[in-house]
Amino acid sequence: MSEFAKPRGTADILPEQAAEWRAIEDAARQLFETYHYREIRTPIFEHTEVFQRGVGDTTDIVQKEMYTFLDRGERSLTLRPEGTAGVVRAFVEEKLYGEMNTQKFYYLGPMFRYEKPQAGRYRQFHQYGVEVIGSSDPRVDAEVIGLGDHLLRQMGVKSFSLLLNSVGCPVCRARHREQLLAYLQPVRSELCKDCQSRFDKNPLRILDCKIDRDHPVVASAPKITDALCEDCARQFSQVQTYLDEMGISYEIDKTMVRGLDYYTQTAFEFVEGSIGAVSTILAGGRYNGLIQMLGGPDLPGIGFAGGVERLILARAAHGATQVGQDRVDVFVLALGEIATKPAARLLHELRSVGIKADSDYSGRKVKAQLKVADRLGARYVVLLGEDEVAAGQVAVRNLATREQVTIEQSELVSYLSEQVSLRF
Ligand SMILES: [Zn+2]
Ligand SMILES: [Zn+2]
Repeated sequence: MSEFAKPRGTADILPEQAAEWRAIEDAARQLFETYHYREIRTPIFEHTEVFQRGVGDTTDIVQKEMYTFLDRGERSLTLRPEGTAGVVRAFVEEKLYGEMNTQKFYYLGPMFRYEKPQAGRYRQFHQYGVEVIGSSDPRVDAEVIGLGDHLLRQMGVKSFSLLLNSVGCPVCRARHREQLLAYLQPVRSELCKDCQSRFDKNPLRILDCKIDRDHPVVASAPKITDALCEDCARQFSQVQTYLDEMGISYEIDKTMVRGLDYYTQTAFEFVEGSIGAVSTILAGGRYNGLIQMLGGPDLPGIGFAGGVERLILARAAHGATQVGQDRVDVFVLALGEIATKPAARLLHELRSVGIKADSDYSGRKVKAQLKVADRLGARYVVLLGEDEVAAGQVAVRNLATREQVTIEQSELVSYLSEQVSLRF
């Protein structure tokens, strides 16, 4: 093994795979723009408080998984563990709320969490996501959910389920909290350490605890969905009406909770089981309290995020893998030392007009070079031997038909531009 290895939980995306990554990124960008979302690029690191506030002090992400460090100026910085907090921080700091009532953003990029690496989970991972800030209209919820549905289908994930819930607002949650505390009190000592310590502060999160959610008492605890206030109940039913209208199927999952105060109302997850256990492939929801939490005006927001690595695994399982082809249009073959200079010039001229071209630099024999040209799928080989160089000419061979013509070097670019463009 090499002395230098990549850090645990990171991956090299090699050229063959990069083609699929780029196809996914391009398709995602195009789709987001079709829905009139605009790209936003925020820093990869932020002041640590942005995530403490924006993700939540009590979450596993903030407590256990962040890459936090002091820079040379002794400031505490953190590599972003997710995309929403940075986007909202930028929205507030750049006062984007002045421009329009509703702002729609999307992002793509690397995120960092110190987690145990496993299939599809890395410490540097990549997410795509959207955020809509400034509207609490249920049509926006349906649009965001519809966009998630569209994206997964477009990416070749043929089957998945959409789980939908409402986690209410601070009003209905306060009422539900009382019910929950009373209900869970008798089993308090049976809960995990984390849940015992969060018991009074945030009992809703116990319902979502990986360890305790299957405990029979926890599993049958009163659901926030059944305790919604009038506003939240109306919002929830309208979101469903719009989804029905759009032909998007969903299941209500009352066990889906988001235990932080600024997560409100709509919560959704797209789950998929092609790579083993059913797991979340894209998730999102409303965060009507977050903009204010990060120092902005009291504006509502909603968004989702999904992981590129997880998406690629699902695509493969659904037969949508795309291997990048290593190919060129033209291969320039210089026969002998004397041909290398004009070959370098012609190669440069071909590339200057956008013809994808390459040459051999390892001094292989003609036969071996022709094999390379063939492997690269070149349609044309440009041959430069002693005779051609002396006459200022060049031989052009069509590898498909085996036809060969000899033309002036000065005509090569226009000749091949015409030939190569015929294919497109
Ligand atoms: Zn409510
Ligand atoms: Zn627990």
